[in-house]
Amino acid sequence: GEIPAFSNFPPADFTIQAEREAYPEAIAQWRTKLNAQYPLFINGQEVTTDDTLDSYNPADPSEIIGTICQAGKPEIDDALTGAKAAYLDWRDVSPKKRAQYLLDAADWCKKNIHKISALQVLEVGKQWDQAQADVAEAIDFLEYYAREMIRLGEPKRMGVAPGEDSRYFYQGKGIAAVIAPWNFPFAISVGMVSAAIVAGCPVIYKPSGLSSVVGWMLTEMFRAADLPAGVFNYTPGRGSVIGDYIVEHPDVSLIAFTGSMEVGLRIQQKAAVVQPGQEQCKKVIAEMGGKNAVIIDDDADLDEAVLGVLYSAFGFQGQKCSACSRAIVLDSIYDRFIHRLREAAQSIKLGPSEDPSNYMGPVVDKAAAKNVLRYAKIAAEEGNIVVQREADDKYKINDACYVPLTIVDGITPEHRIAQEEVFGPVLAVMKAKDMDEALAWANSTRFALTGAIYSRSPKHLERASREFRVGNLYLNKPSVGALVERHAFGGFKMSGVGSKSGGPDYLLQFMDPRLVCENT
Ligand code: GLU
Repeated sequence: GEIPAFSNFPPADFTIQAEREAYPEAIAQWRTKLNAQYPLFINGQEVTTDDTLDSYNPADPSEIIGTICQAGKPEIDDALTGAKAAYLDWRDVSPKKRAQYLLDAADWCKKNIHKISALQVLEVGKQWDQAQADVAEAIDFLEYYAREMIRLGEPKRMGVAPGEDSRYFYQGKGIAAVIAPWNFPFAISVGMVSAAIVAGCPVIYKPSGLSSVVGWMLTEMFRAADLPAGVFNYTPGRGSVIGDYIVEHPDVSLIAFTGSMEVGLRIQQKAAVVQPGQEQCKKVIAEMGGKNAVIIDDDADLDEAVLGVLYSAFGFQGQKCSACSRAIVLDSIYDRFIHRLREAAQSIKLGPSEDPSNYMGPVVDKAAAKNVLRYAKIAAEEGNIVVQREADDKYKINDACYVPLTIVDGITPEHRIAQEEVFGPVLAVMKAKDMDEALAWANSTRFALTGAIYSRSPKHLERASREFRVGNLYLNKPSVGALVERHAFGGFKMSGVGSKSGGPDYLLQFMDPRLVCENT
């Protein structure tokens, strides 16, 4: 039948009792499955390995969410053999039929939304509402890319020359390797994987080791959708063992990656070298870091601006590439803003994400905690600490991954805390003398991902639209929380290569255009 026009899946509504009660229930359900072992999924079969990795709850590392089998090189070879065989049929399955698998997968997500969200609360310390937003975004990716593929799947008649029929159409590039992050553990995985699959590319999917049980949910999802064997392969494994191996493998045509700048640049470098037996140029799509600024104009609505900065900087503990890590505040409103921001930051609750009254929880693992503490120290050396708050000692059990919420001011562009991505709850505040300086500072990093400006001046908003050069700029809105289609997401400069996810050009990257011209 007709597929209705795309619209975004609605956010959680916790005024509804059933929505509220779903979380404790689903969390308790997962607690009955602690320490479970998860296999790989290769060419339609579950495969176990001797090497395994534990995934723990960052709020209580003694709680093992799952023990995940780890692919080595032989398992990657098997997955690629299966994917290679599957490609020959999959690329010629009609775009409509490929799209239907995504729509079926979206239906499965809708039915399992609390299960997948609750798992994120335990495995990565995501707050209820944000965990549910992550699953909603995954549903959006599936629904949107399905429709996009139907749109692009229609061959286009080119030109009007008499005596010829010229048709332009697309073909999946080959096997796609998807290397996914833990911070939007379901949404970003589903986005990259489903784009590849619907475009005609079989996938080997390597989730982050910190969110591999969430990653396993993709296996459940594609099984429920009855996807043919070999089109989706779940191959978690250690980056140090299989990372370069996957990227350099001659059978991999495309690498879709979201993560740090360092890893993204390494992937681009490795993928550029042609290996023996390699038959195609590798394509790399890499979403990397950000050092995003929010500008506060002297006429900004401070109620909105303070809440917007707080959420952009400390939502999910600042672990988003879209997070605000620099607040650039105009001189004449500086004292009022910093006073209000301090009060707001002092009033929020810190503690386990499992309790929905807590605004900020633990960071994702012990290594992340160590890294954030290092930057909190750098911040204190470079500027003046405005707020530094710790979670209550009673939460610090079993080496739980809490780090202080830190706001530092007196920062200027030459400071490290104004240039390096922390990926945690550390906010640098910078006092700019006027809008010229604010815009210059906003643009003064290697990154160009997101940004925001709070202002009531149409002239300044218009100027920012032109001169605040980032992939996603938000006027009087937080710098985080992009929605599929409406806020197609992605940046440039050192923030990444490739087109915006959830946008109209995204699928094109996974396909090669072909032209057939017939003399009639
Ligand atoms: N799309 C997310 C947002 O707008 C950020 C994605 C990321 O952190 O990788 O907040």
